[in-house]
Amino acid sequence: MSNNKQYFKISKHKDSLFVIQENISIVHPVYTNDPLNMYLILGAHTALLLDTGCGLYPLKPIVDDLIGKRKLLVINTHTHWDHVLGNVEFEEIYIHENEADIVSKHYDVSYFKDSPNKIVNCYAEQNFLIPPAKTIDTLKGGDTFDLGGLEAEIIHCPGHSPGSICIITSNSELFTSDVAYYGDQFLPKREDFPQVLDTLSKLIKLCEKQKIIELYPSHRKYPCDKTLLTDLYDGIKNIENLWESKIPFDFFHAWEINDDSGKFRYFVSKM
Ligand SMILES: [Zn+2]
Repeated sequence: MSNNKQYFKISKHKDSLFVIQENISIVHPVYTNDPLNMYLILGAHTALLLDTGCGLYPLKPIVDDLIGKRKLLVINTHTHWDHVLGNVEFEEIYIHENEADIVSKHYDVSYFKDSPNKIVNCYAEQNFLIPPAKTIDTLKGGDTFDLGGLEAEIIHCPGHSPGSICIITSNSELFTSDVAYYGDQFLPKREDFPQVLDTLSKLIKLCEKQKIIELYPSHRKYPCDKTLLTDLYDGIKNIENLWESKIPFDFFHAWEINDDSGKFRYFVSKM
């Protein structure tokens, strides 16, 4: 790891919320969902860090500065590389039980060996095997955390990955992770679209019922409103009509599909 404190962009969005941003395209240009948004939610006695980023520069000292005397709780929204490679800096990580195995061992990023970007030397120094956090704890939907005057509840949202989670807070905020954001979408096989759509329907209903107005995605623009969820639902439904226009995208072992919305591009897994 290098020592560049200027690397992350840190914004205080409100008293109880910092956003720590990192550009992921610096690892490989095929990743265009810049920036990655990590969220630091501050309660009276506990702070919740959502995701740990690419693991290229030290994140923990920045987090420690921001949280003061609060206890730190670290949660991974899911196990895609750009959300978990900083785990090694932290003693203890929470993740949904469906993906706990993946972050309990060294994380293989050898698919970056051919990246044209020099920064991957950081991974090469570790033989492209990035170590895990010391302790992995599991989560399931419905688990809650008291942060002190602020509560966070885990919602299991399978689709983008089997253990993807979103978090809803008692401040009427919904942290949507990679389950919903504007940008390139990484989708499972076409046969598994019903699960993706079920998850989005569930979140749309939740937003209506609980009058959630602020959505905080893990990539690009934040906050969004619930139109993000309906836009994405409609976009994924429409893939059926665009299926014949698909082209192969080998790096992701996926089919690439473009609609003309300007909001999304889709990579549908072939595997
Ligand atoms: Zn992801």
